[in-house]
Amino acid sequence: MPELPEITVLARQMNKELQDKQVAKIESKQPKNLNMPPEEFAKKIKGKTITNTQARGKWIFIKLQPDYYLLLNLGMNGDLLYFNPKQAPPQKYHFKLEFTDKTGFTLAFQWFGYIHLVAEKNLDKHKLTGRLGITPTDKQFTLETFKKLLANKKTGIKNFLLNQKNIAGIGNVYIQDTLFRARLHPNRKTNTLTPQETEALYNAIKDTVNQAIKLGGLAYEKNFYGKHGQFTADHFQVGYKTDKPCPDCGTKIQKIRTGTTASYICPKCQPETHT
Ligand SMILES: [Zn+2]
Repeated sequence: MPELPEITVLARQMNKELQDKQVAKIESKQPKNLNMPPEEFAKKIKGKTITNTQARGKWIFIKLQPDYYLLLNLGMNGDLLYFNPKQAPPQKYHFKLEFTDKTGFTLAFQWFGYIHLVAEKNLDKHKLTGRLGITPTDKQFTLETFKKLLANKKTGIKNFLLNQKNIAGIGNVYIQDTLFRARLHPNRKTNTLTPQETEALYNAIKDTVNQAIKLGGLAYEKNFYGKHGQFTADHFQVGYKTDKPCPDCGTKIQKIRTGTTASYICPKCQPETHT
């Protein structure tokens, strides 16, 4: 499932490629992905111009002039691919958007995804994104903001970070090394973190996300041009490394169940109980 790094890579490439392009037509083969009937969707989006594209958590926000947003979510996974007149679009897709200059993009979902057209004035009320938390790549994501988010919360740190209403964009892939970098057990309660641990966690979130963005995202995910990312299994420190030595202390990495998700931890560097 693509997380913030993969979505950021896509959004940056889209922002570069699609600015000032005017929507000519859409094709929807799976209308359930849309938030309105395809005819209405087509009528509303036609003629609008893209001004800006950015990642918000696991969502892509495309700003359309005037006053609309196109919101994309790849769900479990999907290919979001650019095409131009020299290079035909892929054979299989669920959604295609074409611009007046004959370039465009296609979306092929592996399972299910969302393509929602929302008026700017209704953005806050959008059910799936209206309550999204802060995105760690945003300038507003400061240590102070992070501290405020944690204040008065008494939940396990992993659940806190996975809850998209707190922080948007972290999923069960990148959380593993984030917690390891901060030397925190997934079940540590948020209200037991020392100021040093809070700061370490803040830095760990940013470092993990930024490293993955630099590498273009996960090797099994594709970018806007169909190229795979460079973040391979070797780049994980403890994630998916059951029985491999901890890069810090050499202790065998364990896979444990934490609530409904699996976690990979070094039992020595990330003890469950702390003093
Ligand atoms: Zn260790």
